[in-house]
Amino acid sequence: MTDQCECGATAGPLGVCVDYYHGILAEEQADPRMYAWHAPVVCAYLLQHPSRAREKYLDGQFRQLQLYVDQGLDALLRVAAHQVARNGHGARSGYDMEPLAPYEPLPVGGPPERFRAAFSGLPFREGSFVADGHAAYGRHIQLIAEATVEGWRSLRN
Ligand SMILES: [Zn+2]
Repeated sequence: MTDQCECGATAGPLGVCVDYYHGILAEEQADPRMYAWHAPVVCAYLLQHPSRAREKYLDGQFRQLQLYVDQGLDALLRVAAHQVARNGHGARSGYDMEPLAPYEPLPVGGPPERFRAAFSGLPFREGSFVADGHAAYGRHIQLIAEATVEGWRSLRN
């Protein structure tokens, strides 16, 4: 087992980021309040580990993460709900780019070598990611989201 993740982060007690990511996906299935952060978790994880992502979706995921950092979780959930309704009507697949259009496209030349906050740095206590409460968990996801946007933006320089 390596102690360095592809995103540049050092492994934590659970392992590298993928171990944390799978742990989050499992725990949030049984916790609707925790599941509220599902979209930013997925976007930030894939943007920090693009070898695990479908490249054609990364631009939309980068824009969603910017919207979340800029306008907050409720705004992102409204956009996500709109996407589901739209796809359910079979209008067309993929993301509706309209609410995301004001945001920057994914910079070329990525991924960045490292990010200032990583999934492997998330606190995990008593077998849980929300041992300190949902608000604290949300603040950690917010920090990872901000670090992800900042890391990609730094490529423009
Ligand atoms: Zn990582």
